[in-house]
Amino acid sequence: MPNTILLVEDEPTLRDTLAYRLRHEGYGVITAADGPKALEAAHKVHPNLVVLDLMLPGLDGLEVCKQLRASTDTASTPIIMLTARVEESDKILGLELGADDYVTKPFSWPELRARIRSQLRRSEQSTTDGTATSARQGVIENDPLRIDLDRRQVWLDGDELDLATRLFDLLVYLVQHKGIVLTRSRLLEHVWGYDYTGDTRTVDVHVRWLRERIEADPSNPTLLQTVRGVGYRFKG
Ligand code: CA
Repeated sequence: MPNTILLVEDEPTLRDTLAYRLRHEGYGVITAADGPKALEAAHKVHPNLVVLDLMLPGLDGLEVCKQLRASTDTASTPIIMLTARVEESDKILGLELGADDYVTKPFSWPELRARIRSQLRRSEQSTTDGTATSARQGVIENDPLRIDLDRRQVWLDGDELDLATRLFDLLVYLVQHKGIVLTRSRLLEHVWGYDYTGDTRTVDVHVRWLRERIEADPSNPTLLQTVRGVGYRFKG
């Protein structure tokens, strides 16, 4: 089965060119020219990856991204955003809403192709590892950690850890999204809940506590890394 890519771009020339190139690479391609159609297509075909333009009629790319992340069937679908804006703040905003990567227009085809391959590879890998979707239950083996989702138990190098509920949920979310940079806002939203009104420093405090439990040297973490200015990443 070839990977299916949902390409969301309102500019016809760019859309057609990209669709042609993606098909030429062997991907199945579905296109959408506005936000509402993108959401409809995503829920219908469950693409392996979404290439999403930021500026779109109807709903813009950030809103589409947010809605895809909020639905169980598309929550873990890799999303690469195409943005004409170069400001760093847009990158951060998009990351908060759950995009996995960015390509700034104008971009070269080899650049976009490389990002697509990399996201698909990561997503295939996590599917194989059984860590792709948050809905999936079972046991996650991620050396030196072993997590039993049903029993809510964690072992570190074979020794069981007694983690508080929130620390357990945080750890599971991080491991399930390993390799991906997660902003404090995204962690707050998914681990603490959408209506949680707390400060993002809550995340930093819990990360510190979690490091004290799982890192050999908490002041020099190797598993749970800080991405300066953005958030955290569980090393995959
Ligand atoms: Ca556009």
